[in-house]
Amino acid sequence: MRATNLCAPTLRQVPADAEVISHKLMLRAGMMRKAASGMYTFLPLGWRVIKKIENIIREEMDAAGGQEIMMPILQSDELWQESGRWAAYGAEMMRLKDRHGHEFCLGPTHEEMITALVRGEVRSHKQLPLLLYQIQDKFRDERRPRFGLMRSREFIMKDLYSFDKDEAGMDESYRKMYAAYTTIFRRCGLNFRPVEADNGAIGGGHSHEFTVLAESGESAIAYCTACDYAASDEKAELKPLAASAEEALPLEKVSTPGTNTIDTLAAFLQIPRERTIKAVAYQDDGNRLILVFVRGDHAVNEIKVRNLVPGAAELRMADEEAITAVGGSPGFMSPIGIKRGENTFILVDATVMNMVNAVTGANEPDFHYKNVSPKRDFGEVQVGDLRLVEEGDACPKCGAPLKMTRGIEVGQVFTLGTKYSAAMGATFLDEQGKENPMVMGCYGIGVGRTMAAAIEQGNDEHGIIWPRAIAPFELLVVPVNAKDEAQLTFAEKIYNAAKEAGIDTLLDDRKERAGVKFKDADLIGYPLRVTVGPKAVETGEIELKVRRTGEVHIVSANEWLGKAKELLAGL
Ligand code: ATP
Ligand code: MG
Repeated sequence: MRATNLCAPTLRQVPADAEVISHKLMLRAGMMRKAASGMYTFLPLGWRVIKKIENIIREEMDAAGGQEIMMPILQSDELWQESGRWAAYGAEMMRLKDRHGHEFCLGPTHEEMITALVRGEVRSHKQLPLLLYQIQDKFRDERRPRFGLMRSREFIMKDLYSFDKDEAGMDESYRKMYAAYTTIFRRCGLNFRPVEADNGAIGGGHSHEFTVLAESGESAIAYCTACDYAASDEKAELKPLAASAEEALPLEKVSTPGTNTIDTLAAFLQIPRERTIKAVAYQDDGNRLILVFVRGDHAVNEIKVRNLVPGAAELRMADEEAITAVGGSPGFMSPIGIKRGENTFILVDATVMNMVNAVTGANEPDFHYKNVSPKRDFGEVQVGDLRLVEEGDACPKCGAPLKMTRGIEVGQVFTLGTKYSAAMGATFLDEQGKENPMVMGCYGIGVGRTMAAAIEQGNDEHGIIWPRAIAPFELLVVPVNAKDEAQLTFAEKIYNAAKEAGIDTLLDDRKERAGVKFKDADLIGYPLRVTVGPKAVETGEIELKVRRTGEVHIVSANEWLGKAKELLAGL
């Protein structure tokens, strides 16, 4: 490819609405343009990167026994009614009607459609396992589309679904996909970590997220300093902290004017925050009241709350009326005296149950209880692991302190069990001729988010630094002065030789100043650059420059190709 035929409109200015580096650099390097909020058009350079990532994914999916198919984007509500997710999916689903008034959605994911396909095709255990995948646009009406390709509303996903005859088969498919994902992200040149994950609304058994380590990531990860445990902050399990050995004193109600936060309360009573108990009041989409209690210095993990309350999809802060209706007082709450009922959940973190002589609200404005011992005083409550992990918490596997880091979730693997196959009647006949539901798994990779993650990890003040495997071109040939016929001819020879050697090469034959071409080269981030100047024409000497390290090699016309191959192999 020649730069004079390439639409790569680079920008010198940083676009105003881009917050993270990958978004800024993709716009500046002329890789994509915004079409609407959370929607992007890929320009040729960006699309080449996407295609390279897709090809790596394809090769590894095929090697793991996957078969590529293509399903429609538009999905009828009928399938989603069968699984019960038409109502459950919520506002993220883009819904529309056809001219007859029939309801559809733009696929946010394809479990329903593929289950319907497979139930029609698979009859016998002999047809299993079956691993089918596609690479296609998905649609999610994200609450906050942002960070360019990282959280967009239309995005490319590879989604594979596995169908097995039993749990052991499903676990084997899961293991294969886990291994394939590890290979894919390694081949893409990323520094990543598989972490244990919550499997959220999708349901089913266990799950891992593949997370690229980057400060700008939206996911927080807890990892052990001693063993291989790593989990998303949503998932990280915490054992209750040890019980207090203090002798429980009698409960006492005290006046605490104006202390409706943990900080003001702790200051007023001159006690550390860890002697207080904090309340957070939620309501779910069915308006059920969920009161959660954690130690004053701890934070609530909303995912754990949702997992403990069956059917709680979305949580919001509770209205004052809902709290007072059960005898609570916002800012001064405790489980003591709250009216129990079918639509009221009182969840207490297991660490709180181990406290003795703590302080908690008295369900009356400006009053708290002192000497609260939850085991003695709280009455009927639901106890569980409800708090959010923080640095220094004990690893649930080995007890060593956990550390926190940030990352970008680029892929996720789930076991689904029979959640969809049972609901939708996807069964097969086993060796004994008995009908069983197929046992499923699903496995997604965000292709655009992977591209963005690679840039978050590979950049400097001049622009992008691509890993070779996914760079838009591996090699750039730059004649310093393309108006000079001799130089251009020399550069063309180099370009043709590189192409013949199978190197994905771009020739910057634009009649621009050298400075402009070098700036663009660094911004776009080609891993290796060959510069052809006046010296090349005189003595045959050319310059090879490695984008990542800035190292320069002066080589002769005979040597350059061998050297270029050697350098590229390490990039
Ligand atoms: P998130 O928690 O970030 O919203 P998710 O867990 O809902 O993502 P999955 O359903 O697991 O996403 O989708 C598989 C992959 O698709 C994700 O690992 C991610 O790489 C990608 N992905 C999901 N949502 C988006 C989005 N809005 N924009 C770009 N990529 C996305
Ligand atoms: Mg996910």
